[in-house]
Amino acid sequence: MGGADHRERVVGLDKRRVWHPYTEMSRYRERVDPLVIAAASGSRLRDADGREYLDGNASWWTCTLGHGHPRLVAALAHQAQILGHTALAGIAHENAAELAEALCAVAPPGLEHVFFSDNGSTAVEVAMKLCLQYWSQNGRPERRGFVAFEDAFHGETLGVTALGGVEVFRRPFRDVLLDCIHVPPPRHPHDPARAREALEKTLRENAETLAAVVVEPAVQGAAGMQIYAPDYLQFVRELCDRHDVFLVCDEVFTGYGRTGPMWACDHAGIAPDVLCTAKGFSGGMLPMAATLATTRLFEGFLGDPERAFYYGHTFCGNPLGAAVAREVLRVFDDEAVLVHARPKAARIAAAFSALESVPGVARTRSLGMIGALDLEGDAGYLADAGWRVFDLARKRGAYLRPLGNVVYITPSLNIPDEDLDRLLAILSECVCEVASNRSGRG
Ligand SMILES: *Cc1c(COP(=O)(O)O)cnc(C)c1O
Repeated sequence: MGGADHRERVVGLDKRRVWHPYTEMSRYRERVDPLVIAAASGSRLRDADGREYLDGNASWWTCTLGHGHPRLVAALAHQAQILGHTALAGIAHENAAELAEALCAVAPPGLEHVFFSDNGSTAVEVAMKLCLQYWSQNGRPERRGFVAFEDAFHGETLGVTALGGVEVFRRPFRDVLLDCIHVPPPRHPHDPARAREALEKTLRENAETLAAVVVEPAVQGAAGMQIYAPDYLQFVRELCDRHDVFLVCDEVFTGYGRTGPMWACDHAGIAPDVLCTAKGFSGGMLPMAATLATTRLFEGFLGDPERAFYYGHTFCGNPLGAAVAREVLRVFDDEAVLVHARPKAARIAAAFSALESVPGVARTRSLGMIGALDLEGDAGYLADAGWRVFDLARKRGAYLRPLGNVVYITPSLNIPDEDLDRLLAILSECVCEVASNRSGRG
């Protein structure tokens, strides 16, 4: 079948049957001419007509090592011939065991036990349930509440939706959610000192009924790549220690070198009681996640069968995902991915700070392999200036899905320099074009 016919058939079936995530479907059906991605390699996506697009966000922040990394492909193919799946309840297998060991070796200190699940949301869901159950069976059953940032994002399940602060994601469910106190994050437009005071007061007044504080360390991804000074994490750690409340770091987006070091926690030199990882954890190859916990938490579930953690997704610890995730860690090591990303991060920082002075650009920021800017105009996830940049960039061969009026890149950590420079050039051209039209009109 020819390229155009093929494309038409896929789009036809898609529009008839597929309910897209984060998408209003009537507008999508009537007005959107979707990309039809047929293949990908390194930092490039290829569509059904053979056109290439630089993957500006590493396919929803997952492909830290690029698409189709030969070592990950080989690990997956090899494992598929040996063992595709086995249950993990009471069964051990090499990949889960070795992966857990390797993960603890690179994790912040004190995280000694690994609970596997399938995705970022479940990694945080596990964290919440671990904390709630720990307190309920270790003498503090009144500790049921959580603290999270005002515009936090921790995923999709009903449990973690309680932690979320992005209003449009939360609104339909707000009357059925667990208790969560939302505090201002320590960054623009909030004053970091006021944010600290608010957290301090929240813990002082509510500690006796709190199970955990949950944070996205150093950068809040879905809130629009909002970066804050990581010394705040030391402050949260101290407060949680003082009040004996668990600290959960959701490193689903920030882990695996996205912000520079392996974990965003490493910027502050702190270790949480629970750490959640997904996305880059399996290099974007398979759905796979892990929740790491301290020995204190682990031991709170020992003894009586009633104290066990009755939780476990069918595919938890899946041997294919675990084999790939092991190989991801080896590639990070062998290819010194974090070291080689540093000069790339500097290129991103330079390109975004150069855009700071463009009229119509309100603010720019960068950290590690993240660069972001706000276009002036309506804020919030449903703002559309970013989509105009998306359309222009698509014509020029780059995929730049925005977050409202936040235009950002989170490319693979090993994106070749020439691809990165091209991505940054396309981004700059498109932003200048959209920003100048806007400021001209306003
Ligand atoms: C993406 C994300 C999640 C949810 O992960 P899924 O794999 O989409 O369920 C949770 N927390 C953060 C910080 C994320 O960026």
